Amino acid sequence: MSENVYTLTNVYKTYRNDGKEFEALKDVSLEVREGEIFGIIGMSGAGKSTLVRTLNRLEEVSSGKVEFYGRDLAELKQKELREVRHDISMIFQSFNLLNQRTVIENIEQPLRIAGVPRRERRDKAREMLKVVGLEAKENEYPTRLSGGQKQRVAIARALAADPKVLLCDEATSALDPKITGEILDLLKVINEERKLTIIIITHEMSVVEKICDRVAIIDEGNLAEVGDVKDVFSNPRSKAAKKLVFPSNPFDPSSPDGKLIRIVFDGLRASEPFIANLVEQTGLKVNILSANTRSVGGIGYGQMVLELPADPADQKAVVDFFKAGGLAVSEVNTYE
Ligand code: ADP
Repeated sequence: MSENVYTLTNVYKTYRNDGKEFEALKDVSLEVREGEIFGIIGMSGAGKSTLVRTLNRLEEVSSGKVEFYGRDLAELKQKELREVRHDISMIFQSFNLLNQRTVIENIEQPLRIAGVPRRERRDKAREMLKVVGLEAKENEYPTRLSGGQKQRVAIARALAADPKVLLCDEATSALDPKITGEILDLLKVINEERKLTIIIITHEMSVVEKICDRVAIIDEGNLAEVGDVKDVFSNPRSKAAKKLVFPSNPFDPSSPDGKLIRIVFDGLRASEPFIANLVEQTGLKVNILSANTRSVGGIGYGQMVLELPADPADQKAVVDFFKAGGLAVSEVNTYE
């Protein structure tokens, strides 16, 4: 059993502005385990940033508890909180580098604040620069770096303090897909080699798919779903999860009686010729409106949107055929 880095229990956050109240987090309970990459995904305004700010007590919770390695953050005195925050590093969408300082000085910054002697902090900063593959940029200023390079410097700075957890708040949202991929690959290597727990806040499915072990879906301040990425993405149960995994349905049946279904298949069944089998075994044809597969943790998952024959008995026969084959079948539009 791995240890919990975070345990959130019935967390509520209410903002009060001009006499008006707004509940940004409602009864959120979840655990983040040591060594995992944990994703927190949701639409804009869902409460992700609020949630991540409760993890280092930048935001006080209104009720409930946020425990970091078993310590209730709300109970900590200022000095204790400073110590705990030393174990929690964060990177941001906007990188937050000091433009008047060189790359190496930026990485040294948290060590300087912690009072680490000059030589020691320079050695440590150089070591971190190596981890992120930017040794050649040691004396460069951030304004001369690309977005991806800036985020690498921010990661090096975050790692310099030897944190127990790295919080990434939309860390790749300002980067193009190729650079995003490279940064995510780097985070994965850091997670594996340094056994660092990483929490990733994002609105992008692709980010969660690529590197997260588990995911929490936040929807209007509620925890809609939490679990292994492959389970949540291959068989989303909540409305919010379905909306994220299967974005809006762009299809219309070709006749008013036509019925659309979505079938979800896992890595194993993705390779089976089940449409051909359907025709062979039932003599019924379906119209494939869309098909796509994605890789989650190296295993292929996919979905297809199919238009069924107009006759209700035939529709039932097709659905029964897929269900008998163990495929998840859902009616399109039932949740949109
Ligand atoms: P996300 O990060 O998922 O986009 P946020 O956590 O930033 O969402 O915001 C969640 C909700 O809380 C939003 O509706 C936002 O307007 C509201 N909110 C965030 N911060 C404050 C604040 N300081 N005062 C009032 N409302 C806030």
